[in-house]
Amino acid sequence: MGEDHVKSYYAATANDGARYPRAQGEMTADVCVVGGGFSGISAALTLAERGYSVVLLEANRIGWGASGRNGGQMIAGISGEHNIERQLGAQGRELLRAIRYRGHEIIEGRVAKYGIACDLKHGWMEAAAREKHMPHLRDYVERRQAEGDGAGLEIVEPHEMAHVLGTKIYHGGYIDRRSGHLHPLNLCHGEARAAASLGVKIFEDSQVLEIKGGSPCFVTTAQARIKAASVILAGSTEHQFQRGPLRGLTFPTGSYIIATEPLDEATAQAINPQDLAVADSNIVLDYFRMSADRRLLFGGRCNYSNRDPADLRASLRPRLVEIFPALADKRIDFAWGGRIGIVLTRVPAIGRLEPNVYYLQGYCGHGVNTTHLAAEIVCDAIAGTMEKFDLFEKIRHVRLPVGRWMGNQMLALGMLYYRLRDLL
Ligand SMILES: Cc1cc2nc3c(=O)[nH]c(=O)nc-3n(C[C@H](O)[C@H](O)[C@H](O)COP(=O)(O)OP(=O)(O)OC[C@H]3O[C@@H](n4cnc5c(N)ncnc54)[C@H](O)[C@@H]3O)c2cc1C
Repeated sequence: MGEDHVKSYYAATANDGARYPRAQGEMTADVCVVGGGFSGISAALTLAERGYSVVLLEANRIGWGASGRNGGQMIAGISGEHNIERQLGAQGRELLRAIRYRGHEIIEGRVAKYGIACDLKHGWMEAAAREKHMPHLRDYVERRQAEGDGAGLEIVEPHEMAHVLGTKIYHGGYIDRRSGHLHPLNLCHGEARAAASLGVKIFEDSQVLEIKGGSPCFVTTAQARIKAASVILAGSTEHQFQRGPLRGLTFPTGSYIIATEPLDEATAQAINPQDLAVADSNIVLDYFRMSADRRLLFGGRCNYSNRDPADLRASLRPRLVEIFPALADKRIDFAWGGRIGIVLTRVPAIGRLEPNVYYLQGYCGHGVNTTHLAAEIVCDAIAGTMEKFDLFEKIRHVRLPVGRWMGNQMLALGMLYYRLRDLL
């Protein structure tokens, strides 16, 4: 039996309690998708819209993993852009420009087309955590604007910050009006409902135990066997099929969120008058936004050693109060965590284990939009359009030739360096 949703603000405010059955018996499909987070659901929906028959197998519940528990920040671009540019040069820059808002477009299109109620709002800010970060943020915006790709970007000078956020802690930043925030579990459920309406066979409590490649492939759960022309391994961190190119590539790290009680309107206006989603410019960053019912959802404390803090509230609250002292006496109603898939190059891992077994994972905490565009790239590849897929497959990733535990300790050590650098 799979696990139920973690006790988060999102699970408590989910629109849709729909349950999908457990997979049983023999089935045939054009594509079998393993994993019911954004990567898998988005791929299944794209394929169904294009006329493919799809079976999707989820070990727990739809949206159970990072997709149903994240900060809900819909952020432009993807992680590891500097490595894409470094490795692919002009082709890489062109790719990044083409995909920068593609995930947003897919999400916005589906919210409109399928009437998905997921509190989608526009406005996202990167706030300079240190004075010395501001020149980098300014350069980034000016470069994007010079390249004709900066519509929606606004620099916020340090002296303008008081109009943007009710805290003195940041040193300016920039706002991206095309990015924003949303209720991720409701988006995932809405996309799943849309996929099911187009004929995708969705199964929960259906952990995949074995994948036999070849033509066709066979995907096995405890009670079902699916024969499929192609398989998509759609998931950040939890897959057990870390074979070949996936070995030592992605490491799970913890990230955690607390949600305050609903704030009165005056307090919400005072701390975040433009209702922005905010992430700071540190490598080990804080991120926050308001929920539709005016709670502050505050995240951070990424834990690379993969050991969860014993008390999430005690761990996150001091930082929240440091940023917004006005919230010192507010109740914390929810606290939860999840796993982010980290790839050392920071570039999402999109590729193939075999000619017809695809994988997409390792979004490095930047997956709300990226899952959607990565899923489209994989679906295009299945249909024979390879340009973007080939570029991702070309990326040289760094792999750690050690087991997961040791890999996480090495990662934690590396991140300690960045944490200290953030603090200096
Ligand atoms: C606390 C937190 C905050 C975050 N905040 C943000 C944010 O604000 N903005 C942003 O862009 N990104 C954020 N992220 C990252 C983002 O959530 C992820 O990148 C994204 O959700 C990954 O989606 P996925 O579908 O690849 O993986 P998941 O959502 O983890 O889905 C994988 C699914 O596969 C299933 N599965 C695993 N093994 C099997 C198997 N053998 N058989 C069948 N099913 C299986 C799992 O049960 C799971 O449901 C955050 C992540 C966390 C944890």
